[in-house]
Amino acid sequence: MVGALSPRADSQATPGGGANAAEAAGRRAGRLAAIAGAAERLRPWLIEQRRDFHRHPELSNREERTARVVAEQLRAAGLEEVRTGVAKHGVVALLRGARPGAVVAARADLDALPIQETLDVPYKSLNPGVKHACGHDVHTAVQLGVARVLSQMRDRIPGTVKFLFQPAEEGAPLGEDGGAAYMIAQGALADPQPGAIFGLHVAPDLDVGQIGYSLGPALASADRFLVTIRGRMSHGAWPQDGIDAIVVAAECIGALQTLRSRRIDTREPFVLSIGKIQGGTRSNIIADEVTLDGTVRTHSEAVRAQVKELMREVLDGVTAAHGARFTLDYRDGNPVTFNPPELVQATLPALRQVVGQAQVIERKPVMGAEDFAFYQQVVPGFFYFLGVRNTAKGITAMIHTAEFDVDEECLVVGVQAMANVLLDYLERAAASP
Ligand SMILES: [Zn+2]
Ligand SMILES: [Zn+2]
Repeated sequence: MVGALSPRADSQATPGGGANAAEAAGRRAGRLAAIAGAAERLRPWLIEQRRDFHRHPELSNREERTARVVAEQLRAAGLEEVRTGVAKHGVVALLRGARPGAVVAARADLDALPIQETLDVPYKSLNPGVKHACGHDVHTAVQLGVARVLSQMRDRIPGTVKFLFQPAEEGAPLGEDGGAAYMIAQGALADPQPGAIFGLHVAPDLDVGQIGYSLGPALASADRFLVTIRGRMSHGAWPQDGIDAIVVAAECIGALQTLRSRRIDTREPFVLSIGKIQGGTRSNIIADEVTLDGTVRTHSEAVRAQVKELMREVLDGVTAAHGARFTLDYRDGNPVTFNPPELVQATLPALRQVVGQAQVIERKPVMGAEDFAFYQQVVPGFFYFLGVRNTAKGITAMIHTAEFDVDEECLVVGVQAMANVLLDYLERAAASP
């Protein structure tokens, strides 16, 4: 199923190409054979790396040890240009091929989550209350593996591979800069600027050995909003003397849900959730203030902008009807993770070559979010999913849960997939005039 990959030429490559196409197909088969063999030999090392990161998870913007290990491993893999301390604990490294050519980037994220590990596994988290529950240990180990594999193949690499190891994907602590936007601000995509960037994420809804992708939107924009509704306090028995912020808030909550049902195009994915409300002091006092704390998610920047405007319109109307006032603190989060269709189509053959045509699965976009989207605003980027589920072994838990785990077979697949994608990109760039 997984791992034992016999290299095969890309079956889609031949029509009408003659000798050049045959040559290209031969080159691709040779490339995959080299990558598959090197990744296979790394299997025990990859498992060891992933387990080491899993045992020592670190929260967003606190990835000191992880970053140190990453930098050490990159240097051990023979990469000379390793820049540390980017966006706090980020690492950016260059691997220069033996031949000149294009620049391509890959991104892995380093941080873990504030979740207590409950699994009884030999690689159980040693850091109480912190766990790699989003698979970033896998992403980091895979990317170190890709650096190793490609470092051994320098002779045949036409161009440069830039590796981004990024902190704080899950969001920096309040008041701190962090994540992809901070990496970009600190020059991670400059000097040299890549022609494209690739990233992967573990997917517990795909079997190990499968790769998933979406064309166009893959993940949602995710913004946070804080609404404060202000009324006027009075005795609970004299409500006519006050303005009840709780009653106004209740109407606002209902009215905001009508954005989904009555205002936004029904064909456009959109979620507005209020996860927290707070207000009032006591049973017999009319509340003068209520706060609503929520999230807005969309698959389109146009819908995102429209929602922002409509929220204000609804809150304005509802509060005015009651003589109340409001403030809306709308905080932009991650943009839409958008995979440009041309880049996806050009990349799919390289993924199919690794796991087989039937194992590369197009799937519907989801309402989760990723700060990989920030890189895609600077250069074309493709974010795809690596299957980690193994029902027979009982590995089925969702990410961001205490039970989350992966089938470690995904490590070799991940290295083969990403190494093949990056090298394929550089070879295609070298072949096109
Ligand atoms: Zn996550
Ligand atoms: Zn994640």
